[in-house]
Amino acid sequence: MLTHVGHDVRAVAAAGEAIEHCRTAPPDVVLVDVALCHDAGPEELLTALKGDPQAYRSAVVLLERPDLDLDAAVAALRRGVQDFLVEPVGDAELVARVEAAGRTKVLQEELVVQSERLEAMLFEDPLTKLSNRRSILTQLAAAVSAARRHERALSVAIVDIDHFKYVNDEHGHAAGDRVLAAVANSMRQHLRAEDQLGRLGGEEFLALLPDADAHAAATAAEKLRTAVAALAVHHDGGELAVTISAGWAAWDGESPEELLRRADEALYEAKRGGRDRVEGAPATVQRRT
Ligand code: GH3
Ligand code: MG
Ligand code: MG
Repeated sequence: MLTHVGHDVRAVAAAGEAIEHCRTAPPDVVLVDVALCHDAGPEELLTALKGDPQAYRSAVVLLERPDLDLDAAVAALRRGVQDFLVEPVGDAELVARVEAAGRTKVLQEELVVQSERLEAMLFEDPLTKLSNRRSILTQLAAAVSAARRHERALSVAIVDIDHFKYVNDEHGHAAGDRVLAAVANSMRQHLRAEDQLGRLGGEEFLALLPDADAHAAATAAEKLRTAVAALAVHHDGGELAVTISAGWAAWDGESPEELLRRADEALYEAKRGGRDRVEGAPATVQRRT
């Protein structure tokens, strides 16, 4: 058996040794010489390679005997084998086919990286790394559906940075961006793992608090407020202080839009009440938490 890592071509005698090698440092291409598969059949080898969380990345090329079982070779292609060659094969063809399999494998990996990057752009706010508006609103709709179906509590909190325009005007847009990222990061750290946080736009955020009743929502929002008030964002050798106002609302059986509207009203109250504070709107019906 031969494993091929870029220009590093390695001959490995036993299938077990090759599988171990593929698990620790998956090569681009694994060339399996079926005639040499003594300690494990090609079937067994493929199962081991394709079922491993690391080794499955390697492209597998089978080098078959002239009396090959064509149906089995075709079945192997269906199972994810990149290619098979039938002996006798000249060196030039062997190398060219292995290189072609390697190129395909590299392209496939690039495609995965690219689509992950595109997906991140669709759902993630680049500055804060939180869910973007579209994504958090989709999650809100799903959370309301789940709360309705399971008759469980759900709360939301809208958070807005106080006097943020002043930060931008006084210290510049870059400082504003730094404050935004720091506030987002701090809030994320002070929420539960099952809570969701997104950037609604500008300096406004939405937290989804599944299973949280009014009491839990008020506690969570207050925790965010305290955490942000304790932040010191470094800028130009100094430290910027920042506060937030938050409005929470406990779901009362209404639509996502109506729930947001109630939270927004509470936020407005918090702003009117002097900022750096939390206001909320409880539900009329108690739901399971
Ligand atoms: P309030 O306490 O009433 O919330 O006052 P405020 O100044 O925070 O509110 P206002 O809505 O007047 O200002 C929001 C500012 O946020 C204005 C806008 O320039 C700024 N902003 C929005 N998005 C970004 C951004 O991505 N980066 C930076 N640096 N500033 C932003
Ligand atoms: Mg603001
Ligand atoms: Mg605002």
